Amino acid sequence: MSSVAPLPARRPLAEVAVALPVGGTFHYLAPPPLDARLAIGHRVLVPFGRRQVTGYVVGFPESAEVDGLKAIAALLDDGDPLVPPALLDLLRWVADYYLAPLGEVCRTALPGGLAPASSRRLVLTPEGLAAARALETEGGPDTAEARLLRRLAASADGLLHRSALAGAGRSGKRALSALRRRGLVALAERVGGDRAKPRRETIVRLAGPLDEPALARLGRRAPKRAAVLRFLRERGPTPLPALRAAFGEVAPIVRALVDSGQVATEEVEIGRRVDWGLGAAGGGDAPAVLTRAQSEALTVLRAALASQTFAPFLLHGVTGSGKTEVYIRLVEAALAAGRGAIVLVPEISLTPQLVGRFTRRLGDRVAVLHSGLSDGERLDEWRRVRRGEAPVVVGARSAVFAPVEPLGVIVVDEEQEGSFKQDDGVRYHARDVAQVRARQAGAVCLLGSATPSLESWARATQRVEGASPLGYLRLPERVEARPLPVVEVVDLRRKLGEAAPRARAAEPPSPVSPALEQALAETLAERRQALLFLNRRGYATFLLCPDCGTRFGCESCAVSLVYHRAERALRCHYCGASRPAPAVCPKCGGTQVLQFGAGTERIEEWLRARFPGARLARLDRDVVGPRGAVRDVLKEVAAGEVDVLVGTQMVAKGHDFAGVTLVGVLLAESGLSLPDFRAAERTVQLLTQVAGRAGRGDAPGRVIVQSYDPDHPAIRFAAAHDADGFYAVELEARRELGYPPFRRLVNLRVDAPSEAAARRAAGWLAARAAARLAADSSLAGQVEVVGPAPAPLARLRGRHRWQLLLKGRGSAAVRRVAAALAAEARQPAGLSRGAMLSIDVDPANLL
Ligand code: ADP
Ligand code: ZN
Repeated sequence: MSSVAPLPARRPLAEVAVALPVGGTFHYLAPPPLDARLAIGHRVLVPFGRRQVTGYVVGFPESAEVDGLKAIAALLDDGDPLVPPALLDLLRWVADYYLAPLGEVCRTALPGGLAPASSRRLVLTPEGLAAARALETEGGPDTAEARLLRRLAASADGLLHRSALAGAGRSGKRALSALRRRGLVALAERVGGDRAKPRRETIVRLAGPLDEPALARLGRRAPKRAAVLRFLRERGPTPLPALRAAFGEVAPIVRALVDSGQVATEEVEIGRRVDWGLGAAGGGDAPAVLTRAQSEALTVLRAALASQTFAPFLLHGVTGSGKTEVYIRLVEAALAAGRGAIVLVPEISLTPQLVGRFTRRLGDRVAVLHSGLSDGERLDEWRRVRRGEAPVVVGARSAVFAPVEPLGVIVVDEEQEGSFKQDDGVRYHARDVAQVRARQAGAVCLLGSATPSLESWARATQRVEGASPLGYLRLPERVEARPLPVVEVVDLRRKLGEAAPRARAAEPPSPVSPALEQALAETLAERRQALLFLNRRGYATFLLCPDCGTRFGCESCAVSLVYHRAERALRCHYCGASRPAPAVCPKCGGTQVLQFGAGTERIEEWLRARFPGARLARLDRDVVGPRGAVRDVLKEVAAGEVDVLVGTQMVAKGHDFAGVTLVGVLLAESGLSLPDFRAAERTVQLLTQVAGRAGRGDAPGRVIVQSYDPDHPAIRFAAAHDADGFYAVELEARRELGYPPFRRLVNLRVDAPSEAAARRAAGWLAARAAARLAADSSLAGQVEVVGPAPAPLARLRGRHRWQLLLKGRGSAAVRRVAAALAAEARQPAGLSRGAMLSIDVDPANLL
């Protein structure tokens, strides 16, 4: 009784990041009682320009930067904010490093359910609420204004979607503007978090025991009621939707039974846990003995974890060397120490198989965050993590922001994967953010790969100026001394004569070499599985009319359209445009339109014709539309129900199928011609990955790589399993050409509706960059400007694209120049109207 509750600190000012693509943060007044309730990370509704928008409280400034501050209109969260304060420090770092507005970063990082709905809503102001109350008590004329006020007052949260006005016609619109002029109603941009309320469900159960004679009597009078009671007696408490499934519309019956006191209902909050169909037993399938390399790596990692200081590592282990086992044990060590963990994997590796390996071992403590979740599911998982119920998060890119606290470990599997870099909006790289987060948390950061990025490999194996070192852990052999698969390279050039394009009617050339065909036949005869990899979707990569030379391209992008046979359509793989495939050339009426370049659809057809008895499956973005489809295909392969799986890089990644003994790569050089300095590196990585799918079980694996460019170093080194050899050669090339890790890059891309406008805007930027470098002697020799030049993909979705590449010795100098240019571009005299500038710090993709 003697203790006195301390008075809550009063914080009359708040710094707010608004969830809009505008720079900076804004100060607002926090009127009582808000001043005592606000916490860092809370979502608030604030006036912004002429409307109200959602923002995140990111700080409590001592003094205001300007006079006449506006006040926060509402607090949108109760209790603990969803965003822990430490996470906000990370978001601030992201905003600063990637030159993105903090509010935009919040919107990207936080679960979809928190992103602002694009829809505008109407909200009653306090004056409006008073007016509505007055109407209720005192009455008044039934005008359109009064009706609108009443409707707003009646809606649970004082909000109405603007479309609610749709039926009200002109008088409704006029009423709205009158109410807004009088300050009774405001337009609010509200977070969609409210769309994703925890789901509630009605459970129906018997109120007491049933006696049979009474039931029989009821059955004569009201047979359906009796049937529902019998059902409940048999099944126990049942969710209303399940009853509906059994009896049709049962709500009136249930209501009658409630009224007669025979059943009771209750509302329960149901977790929207995603069913991966795997169970979550905990404890299962741990190998009894670790390999020596695994235990050595774990000794180092556990010591680093115990030290509670930031320690970054690269785990470089060949495919099948047991990296995942190391991740799981490190996560277990973190849990044992009372800390949590985040495991990042590329979206396409986030398969039931992989998730199952974690959930079987760690049980319910795992939350899974992937892009297939609905807003509500994502929010549920986020809340479970925030409450500490799920201290382990397995997820794709944005899971790097999951509210795990305290964090002990971040794993980034397949750290070289391009999908860790977001390529629009806030262009962050989850692998790099992971290292910063681990530094802030004093955690272990473990980057794992069979084929690390050249940057990480260099940081781990030698001193790179301007880059922090990584501890280097190796798993040089497969578990149980399984051999790496034997790789044969098939030179396609010898077949060039044969492979000449033919007319559409004629039999096209075989996309599969005799060597691969024979290996397929043998594999099928042995009842083993094969996997064919070709990184092109569709049937034919382009169509061409030999009479007039027309090549069928996209109208809004500078690329060819891909022929998809199943839909008889030409599709753009960049903008998604689709049109019926022409039977004759629309330009000249030519009837012999030719198909070039086989895609996965064509390979599937070839297999069907050549091996009619084989069970085939295809895996690429065309067949995986609904998320479940990938799961089904992978499950079938794992269960041995598929003999040959053909697909794009979706088949190359991470899967551990013990029955696959043959891997065929149909066109190994397909990525090499891309105008990107990482093309060779990516090819080596992809070939190594896909080859690594073979021979993971008891039988040894075999890989056949077909190529028109078999002597290319990327193909030679990959075939020899000599990644280190490739890295050494490639690193020297990067040094000479001035690319990462020796230089840091920022790509400034402008797009505009016309080629001339894009060129002009890029020219202006280049001139401003040159002026800046000339004016600032501290930048001399530090930053170099390359371009401007048209982007390799010169037109996308109707916008023409040019770019300017900044190269620097350290990231600070290049980012400083980029930030200054961005600020100049925003000035009235800046970038010409219609042109847009996007800034990409550490670009992963220069197309
Ligand atoms: P990676 O991730 O390096 O490709 P995985 O972690 O998928 O390798 O391991 C390959 C296979 O070996 C898996 O089926 C895994 O369960 C098994 N495995 C891992 N470690 C061991 C071990 N020490 N002894 C036996 N089997 C193991
Ligand atoms: Zn297009």
